[in-house]
Amino acid sequence: MTRSDDINTPIRPDAFELSDQEKIEKIETHVRSILDILGMDLKDDSLARTPHRVAKMYVQELFSGLNPDNKPRVTLFENKYQYSQMLVEKEIAVFSTCEHHLVPIYGKAHVAYISNGEVIGLSKINRIVRYFCRRPQVQERLTRQIAAELRKTLKTEDVAVVIDAAHMCVAARGVEDVNSSTVTADLGGQFQNEATRLEFLRYIGY
Ligand SMILES: [Zn+2]
Repeated sequence: MTRSDDINTPIRPDAFELSDQEKIEKIETHVRSILDILGMDLKDDSLARTPHRVAKMYVQELFSGLNPDNKPRVTLFENKYQYSQMLVEKEIAVFSTCEHHLVPIYGKAHVAYISNGEVIGLSKINRIVRYFCRRPQVQERLTRQIAAELRKTLKTEDVAVVIDAAHMCVAARGVEDVNSSTVTADLGGQFQNEATRLEFLRYIGY
């Protein structure tokens, strides 16, 4: 067994040798056999296209963020307003997939940064969050991957990411706790100072 100590998603070097179309065809076969083993009648109208639908959803939607080709291209702008306070983008929708159970993780992400001379288009923050959501995930790694990407892009350590999310693997199975949510945070640079951290947490309502 290999184990990754870094924040990268464990993925094999040959992960993109198959085309998306080839992946969909192969996955479809396996989804069909899972349903078949469970005893479902795949000739039923309602089920007939399910293997194809699931395979397409995995490759083109839920797990499309595994492929670096799908990473959002980010353009930065000069901070011409000389805005030097923190910028907070809050309540960004999080839809991801727990890599331990392959069921949804959903909630909100709150992101903040302090400009180091350049600013990012606001919707790009949402797109970066969504890109890292769209792969098998654990919430801790998701939080760190988003923060690391923004630090690299914005060339500053002054980035904060908080994710508050519910895990279907906790709500719908196992302990069946429907009320709990999980909060993770990655606070870098100036966000490690108490005053800055508290200001950020107040903006996001914590
Ligand atoms: Zn899980």
